[in-house]
Amino acid sequence: MDFILATNNMKKLAEMQRILSPLGINVVTAKMLGIQLEDVEENGTTFEENAEIKATAACKETGMPSIADDSGLCVDYLDGAPGIFSARFSGGHGDDERNNDLLLEKLQGVPAEERGAHYVCAICCAFPDGKKIIVRGECYGTIGFERDGNEGFGYDPLFIINGKAFGRYTAEEKDKISHRGNALRKLKAELEKVI
Ligand code: IMP
Repeated sequence: MDFILATNNMKKLAEMQRILSPLGINVVTAKMLGIQLEDVEENGTTFEENAEIKATAACKETGMPSIADDSGLCVDYLDGAPGIFSARFSGGHGDDERNNDLLLEKLQGVPAEERGAHYVCAICCAFPDGKKIIVRGECYGTIGFERDGNEGFGYDPLFIINGKAFGRYTAEEKDKISHRGNALRKLKAELEKVI
């Protein structure tokens, strides 16, 4: 059974395929089927709402079960910011370098014990009959004082968990404990009940 993944991020696609293929689910992007999804405005106020907006729109357009995720970093000292605005923290969308610079700047002089943070990933799977599954995964760590490592993406060089930055984890190591890995395992468990 084909499921649409509402993203063109090939890393996310590979991770979804690894986890969901044992259920007989073949995850594809709309683009792989020659469908260009309309841009939707992510105007939700939570990760869950944004994931639902994207999955529902993709499902309506394609008529196929559709999966979308929304994720970000919540920093305790910043009252949960950047949160749903993680990709555009410093202005432009997805400028990882500037986002990390800004995060370091905002935490300048903040001691280690006040640098707690967590990643969140919400995933929604929307079915053509209107049924929806929404799950959330989290992953707790701290924000480092400088970048460490070149693996991963986004805030990974600054996010420290179990004594080292995600920037120094292999993809497989990260999958086992990451917010996205945790959310995907929950999605798999929920899909097992309905498929
Ligand atoms: P999106 O859900 O793909 O739009 O991601 C939102 C933003 O959150 C990304 O651009 C990153 O800045 C941040 N983010 C989400 N997940 C991760 C992660 O696993 N590592 C690093 N940054 C992440």
